Amino acid sequence: MSKPTSGKTDRCSFCGRTKEEVNLLIAGVSGHICDACIDQAYTIIKEELKPVQKPFDLEDLDVKTPIEIKEFLDQYVIGQDDAKKVLSVAVYNHYKRLGQQDTRNEVEIEKSNIILVGETGTGKTLLAKTIAKMLNVPFTIVDATVLTEAGYVGEDIESLLTRLLQAADYDVKAAERGIVFIDEIDKIARKSDNPSITRDVSGEGVQQGLLKLLEGAIVNVPPQGGRKHPEQKMIPVDTKHILFIAGGAFDGIERKIAQRLNTKVIGYGAQKKADEIDRNNLIQYVAPQDLKAFGMIPEIVGRLPVIAHLNPLDRDALRQILTEPKNSIIKQYYKLFQMDHIKIVFDPDVLDYIVSLAIDFKLGARGLRSICESIMIDVMYESPTKKQPNIHITKSYAEQKISKITANRLKAG
Ligand code: ADP
Repeated sequence: MSKPTSGKTDRCSFCGRTKEEVNLLIAGVSGHICDACIDQAYTIIKEELKPVQKPFDLEDLDVKTPIEIKEFLDQYVIGQDDAKKVLSVAVYNHYKRLGQQDTRNEVEIEKSNIILVGETGTGKTLLAKTIAKMLNVPFTIVDATVLTEAGYVGEDIESLLTRLLQAADYDVKAAERGIVFIDEIDKIARKSDNPSITRDVSGEGVQQGLLKLLEGAIVNVPPQGGRKHPEQKMIPVDTKHILFIAGGAFDGIERKIAQRLNTKVIGYGAQKKADEIDRNNLIQYVAPQDLKAFGMIPEIVGRLPVIAHLNPLDRDALRQILTEPKNSIIKQYYKLFQMDHIKIVFDPDVLDYIVSLAIDFKLGARGLRSICESIMIDVMYESPTKKQPNIHITKSYAEQKISKITANRLKAG
């Protein structure tokens, strides 16, 4: 192909129009094509090469047992056995529910939506994403805080299903069997403890809106989402079989749990019952009442009947997270350098040092990456040019790199 030609008698080899009759005429080896024909040809290509949509068929689903599902999660997520088990069973039952045929005379298996409670950065989203990797039903992650912003406009809550429809390539039947992960559900809690008269009604409004979806209803979904396309035709989606998994940090819920357990977060009570309670990790006792005390409306709590907790990550867990998951940070560095034919070695005490920094600066698992990046930036900058075949990262090298930056920068990472 070459630039537009200058010859006056040149014509489009497809429609026969001359250069004067079109906007652009492009010359090929033995002919020409005009802009209009290119446009038309492109439409044909798009239509012809469109992927064929397969209708949803349960037979196609490779259903794994709960133990197999958990084993899969174990490859990516460290610890959190309680949450993994609960999720594995829920996903397995989800498939079984999809398989139930005529339920008129039988026991109908109802869905059990799930709520994951645990500090931020303990693996809630990671669990959801890992489940998604394994699943062959449409899956999407949505953030409840987005719903808060325009809480009282009902359409926005429905647009949560837009994402699921998109994940299902607009195959409504498939979307109706999908899974939605609602992150940061605690951010739409009613601030009931707030002494101010102006209560946070928007949070409660969003909860009410969500309720309809969780319960199972036919919802009109804007296919493009949002209010930007008022002309769009709504698509009715039945949420009866959609599995909802909610996740939230519920900051401060330990106090509610402690109150319920009739003990104190700090201090050693004399009561016998209190002695049996692991006060360092109250989240493991989280119950529906605590979610209500936190500001979730009772109806929502009732529609999220399965509660699982995620434990705070200790030193050992953080150390494992660095190296053990299938795509751990350190494994990613090995791969990055390998692509440049460089073998990189980290001394074990470098890894311990990284974990200590994450703990000292209270950065949790999320901080591990920013600490690693701060240590590795110079090596990554220089090594493609220097082309040394081996790189050895020692603790003193790591300390030297870290001493140059401030804790604030790590926190921002
Ligand atoms: P949350 O959703 O609970 O706030 P995330 O799942 O987003 O936390 O975790 C943030 C990051 O920290 C993850 O991308 C992952 O790299 C790491 N991480 C957190 N918890 C774990 C875990 N249990 N196992 C492995 N990696 C983890």
